[in-house]
Amino acid sequence: MRILVTGGAGYVGSHAIRSLARHGHRVTVYDNLSTGHRFLADGFEMMVADLDDAPQLSRALSDIELVMHFAGSAYVGESVQNPRKYFHNNVQNGLALANAALDAGVRYFVFSSSCAVYGTPEKVPIIEGTRCQPVNPYGETKLFFERILDAYSRTYDLRAVALRYFNAAGADESGEIGELHYPETHLIPLALEAAAGLRPPLEVFGNDYPTFDGTCIRDYIHVTDLAEAHALAAEFLQSQTGDAFTALNLGTGGGHSVRQVVAMVEKVSGHSVPRRITERRPGDPPSLVADPARARQLLRWSANRSLEEIVASAWKWLHSGKRQRVSAGAASVGEAPN
Ligand code: UDP
Repeated sequence: MRILVTGGAGYVGSHAIRSLARHGHRVTVYDNLSTGHRFLADGFEMMVADLDDAPQLSRALSDIELVMHFAGSAYVGESVQNPRKYFHNNVQNGLALANAALDAGVRYFVFSSSCAVYGTPEKVPIIEGTRCQPVNPYGETKLFFERILDAYSRTYDLRAVALRYFNAAGADESGEIGELHYPETHLIPLALEAAAGLRPPLEVFGNDYPTFDGTCIRDYIHVTDLAEAHALAAEFLQSQTGDAFTALNLGTGGGHSVRQVVAMVEKVSGHSVPRRITERRPGDPPSLVADPARARQLLRWSANRSLEEIVASAWKWLHSGKRQRVSAGAASVGEAPN
């Protein structure tokens, strides 16, 4: 298929475009490089433009059969400080994209959603039928856009899948691409950088949660497993089976606590992780673990890579020449690189 990938120069997007190419699809990346990095999409056709640039967008959509939409803002904390940015980038721009896609005759849509749509669920593992009650603007914007796709797919000739990610982590085995956020807020890269002496001690956000060791539990999924699900979602849409709109959890079905992650980082890196216990981070639910049965059934997919493989690939990426060159360039000019 001819696929337009918005945000294809971002973390998950750059892994997904490789997976799509392996499955034989023809990919064009559409990215404004505000948080993405051009080198993450090296070798792919790319248009550098904003989603609210209507003429560019409609040019990009000519001949496209499927849109895969990753572009957006993804910091929970920032969404609380600046909800306007999140509703603009994630809802308004998403709606412009959905409308332009309909106008261009696109029939398939895959959306990068999040388990943040659930908020703080009463029961884990979480099934897709759980009531969605986001607890921050980021989750609200993801849910808004899912609802747009649901409504559009009921009325128009559009089939859509929303992929609700749990905790994406790790890096492509090649060491060529990986996670590169400015600022970095995620546990695994922060713990690895602390182990490598590249940043101050890790702050463990709370050890008094009602979990087996007092720290929060999350379902960490290898970004390569996540990427593969996108290629399978494209094929699922084309198969014309199931409902016009489908939401799917992408997780492993197993959880790890912050303490367990830190222990794995120490095992893989061979260094201790300097750390201190701090206050809970507002809005952090004690435990978020996917029930991925629906994705397993509909996509014939499962996340096979272990926490050890996740951490080992992220450790390799931390030391990759490519990452180090890009980070050094960023440090010398004091900003996030492209
Ligand atoms: N966490 C932590 N210290 C950090 C960053 C994260 O203790 O510096 C914890 C956080 O409270 C959560 C887990 O690690 O329980 C995963 O957080 P992350 O930000 O990686 O992903 P999220 O679950 O927020 O999407």
